[in-house]
Amino acid sequence: MSLMFASPVVTPTVGSFTFSSRRRSNYIVMSAVRSNSTSLCPVLTKFQKDCATPTPYLREVANAIANDMRAGLAVDGGGDLEMILTYVDALPSGNEEGLFYALDLGGTNFRVRSVQLGGREERVVATESEQISIPHKLMVGTSEELFGFIATKLASFVAKEKPGRFRLEQGKKREIGFTFSFPVKQTSIDSGTLIKWTKGFNVSGMEGKNVVACLNEAMEARGLDMRVSALVNDGVGTLAGARYWDEDVMVGVILGTGTNACYVEQKHAIPKLQSKSSSGITIINTEWGGFSKILPWTIFDREMDEKSLNPGEHLYEKMISGMYLGEIVRRVLLQMCETTDLFGQFVPVKLSTPFALRTEHLCKIQEDNTDDLQIVGSVLYDNLELEATNLEARRRVVELCDTVVKRGGRLAGAGVVALLEKIEEDTKRMSSGKRTVVAMDGALYEKYPQYREYMQDVLVELLGHKLASYVAIKHTKDVSGLGAALLAATNSIY
Ligand code: ADP
Ligand code: MG
Repeated sequence: MSLMFASPVVTPTVGSFTFSSRRRSNYIVMSAVRSNSTSLCPVLTKFQKDCATPTPYLREVANAIANDMRAGLAVDGGGDLEMILTYVDALPSGNEEGLFYALDLGGTNFRVRSVQLGGREERVVATESEQISIPHKLMVGTSEELFGFIATKLASFVAKEKPGRFRLEQGKKREIGFTFSFPVKQTSIDSGTLIKWTKGFNVSGMEGKNVVACLNEAMEARGLDMRVSALVNDGVGTLAGARYWDEDVMVGVILGTGTNACYVEQKHAIPKLQSKSSSGITIINTEWGGFSKILPWTIFDREMDEKSLNPGEHLYEKMISGMYLGEIVRRVLLQMCETTDLFGQFVPVKLSTPFALRTEHLCKIQEDNTDDLQIVGSVLYDNLELEATNLEARRRVVELCDTVVKRGGRLAGAGVVALLEKIEEDTKRMSSGKRTVVAMDGALYEKYPQYREYMQDVLVELLGHKLASYVAIKHTKDVSGLGAALLAATNSIY
């Protein structure tokens, strides 16, 4: 069926089964009868089968991720996971003192934060932050324009500082922890070159350039006497910020628009580390979104991937992160709509629009507790112009969302297990009864309870009750700015 149906004239009152148009009403009644007698929807049934993630299979996924971790630690490009050295060799201890700054660039906003640290007893004495939206033209302009804008905003943020609240010691420059959440080849704790822009950024003349040098030049040009002491990504920032309050934090995971994970690794377990003194710890940025093996890839995943900006890459990210879950559901729904009459005769134009359904909408669908799934009906109608007028159809949609979210949450859980088992290999923490904390940030984890639960289940399934009982997954919202400021303190030149 390829009929396109633009916009229906009247919004049906979904749930109460009242319809405005006679013709559609007749059609819908017929469809309801049909779907009651045949509750089969082959597209959904097959999709559910293809998405299954039974425990033995997740065990293989966790093992495959851990193997790629080892391969990436042995040599650059050895596995799907890049296992980037972050040069963060010391984590916040709680003793940090002084005034430090964080600058966070990674999306449509950038954030500036000042943090007055008062040492072990006083901790964070004062902190201020400001969020500034980046005009779209700067996201696709030149590096001078972008960094000029950032430096200017940073200068006015510092100028507003209240002298009583924030104190810079004499003779010291203001030091910044710069969170730059794009793929970077780190060359030291305070330098790194941009590998490629993502997330809608395309600033000319930046790829292959040291991002810290770009910021330093812009600050100098404006007479702003500050220096970048640490360049980190948001996963590292989350780990460091969470570690400041809880010394058992070993992993930082981001589950938002995209996904990534960083963890504390023993240097002796990193063959590619050139340094002679391979003792102590360092943080590894796994870039786990790049994992692409043995995943439950369906035709819908393949089609979404083919249309993406990075086809063939980041397949794990495309199954588990917020940017994609809604889009997968939309693609399956489209085929359900084309091959059954659960949703009437017509295929709405909006249902064919990429990214018309977002992960937030799946969450709303799964939260619907009404008897007739009224909210499901309105989410579908409001966002896709899809008329799910019979209860059977709406139930199917709930099942579909659950299938995609369950697969995503469970696969993310397998990733967390891979990291925990890698940590366990060298430290034997959990088996000796030591609490081990995974710090989580990102709106997908924060706002999607079912996703969280599916993920948590996997820890018990794969680690077993005993080891899992030593693992705590902690939601640590917005600590990455504090983490970046702390890493500036840890790596201060003074
Ligand atoms: P970022 O990863 O860009 O820093 P966030 O952590 O805020 O940003 O994550 C944003 C993503 O989280 C959105 O792309 C969306 O997929 C998901 N998300 C936002 N709100 C919700 C919600 N209410 N329920 C489920 N997922 C959500
Ligand atoms: Mg974020």
